[in-house]
Amino acid sequence: MPRVYFKEENCKGCCLCIKTCPKKIIIISDKLNNKGYHTAAILEENMKNCTGCASCARICPDVVIKIEK
Ligand code: SF4
Ligand code: SF4
Repeated sequence: MPRVYFKEENCKGCCLCIKTCPKKIIIISDKLNNKGYHTAAILEENMKNCTGCASCARICPDVVIKIEK
């Protein structure tokens, strides 16, 4: 099963990954990073729906997302 990792400290909460995910599993969390942005995340129970397509990783301008297959 693919797994998505977010380098939260680099996230600007721009939502591009959220819009691009075909499975609509990425959310903006309540958590703030050190720069004061709410960060992108995937709830643990939704990770199983990830196809590993990597669209989110490709579109992120800040290289926050890493996919492990
Ligand atoms: S790899 Fe694809 S399905 Fe998984 S979170 Fe990213 S865009 Fe969504
Ligand atoms: S595209 Fe990148 S910077 Fe924007 S919300 Fe997603 S992970 Fe954060």
